[in-house]
Amino acid sequence: MYLCYIDESGTSSTNDNSSHFVLAGLSIPIWKWNTCERDINRIKRRYNLQDAEIHTAWINRDYREQRAIPNFDALSYTERTVAVSRHRREMILKLRRAGNSKKLKQTQKNYTKTEPYIHLTFDERKAFIKDVARKIGAWGFARLFAECIDKVYFDPSLAPQTIDEQAFEQVVSRFEHYLNRLNSSDDCDQKYHGLLIHDNNQTIEKKHTELMKRFHRVGTLWTQIEYIIETPLFVNSELTSMIQLTDVCVYAIRKYLEKGEDELFNEIYRRADRRGRNVVGIRHFSEDICTCHICSNHR
Ligand SMILES: [Zn+2]
Repeated sequence: MYLCYIDESGTSSTNDNSSHFVLAGLSIPIWKWNTCERDINRIKRRYNLQDAEIHTAWINRDYREQRAIPNFDALSYTERTVAVSRHRREMILKLRRAGNSKKLKQTQKNYTKTEPYIHLTFDERKAFIKDVARKIGAWGFARLFAECIDKVYFDPSLAPQTIDEQAFEQVVSRFEHYLNRLNSSDDCDQKYHGLLIHDNNQTIEKKHTELMKRFHRVGTLWTQIEYIIETPLFVNSELTSMIQLTDVCVYAIRKYLEKGEDELFNEIYRRADRRGRNVVGIRHFSEDICTCHICSNHR
């Protein structure tokens, strides 16, 4: 059995300021699951993050209070936590007194989301994500599948499906192709199956469950579904560190496509499914003349 952890980055809406929507699946054989958990937990412990979820976008932010604290880098983890927490309490009080409820709400959300990481400097947080990405890149048994849609290029009036549907269909088809290849190799005396595992989010749950039913009935545009189990599994991402790793992958891909930052991308891209020299696991749905790594290697 192969597990494929699905996550997304950016929104599929064309009315916001993200140019890309990325959906990805990170697949590992079930017998490597323990190795993966152990590897990631080891990295987490190094940064005192053993109880924290890896939420890449929140980790990789500038925490303004940290800059305001003198000699922040020289403090211990505990001293940093105490100092940042005090700054934050002061800020909340200030916003309450000013009666700025919109800003107060946004600030409270920022603080809650980033709280597990405030004991680390910006450089340490970046190093943590880099270590995780490097570890994923080194897992020879893992495969990455992704559809990256440039929403500027996506024309809803011409497309037969929505952005979400196209992305999910592509990822599912590529995972199925991969299982097919594994199952048709000469030394394969058993058939491998695939299980899709998603973050437990009600909107996605409904959408993906319905799409999977359809794929099983009529196939996708690209393939019949034979090896992927019909019902996807939905889990709480807080409790499933493997989903959090797909979060690192989609974050890295979107940063590369939107900002040209390739440090994390180069690590995780090593796991993109390949046939010979051709990268078949990841596609950038964009204009024909795109010269990014994904487009250059996909053709
Ligand atoms: Zn491209």
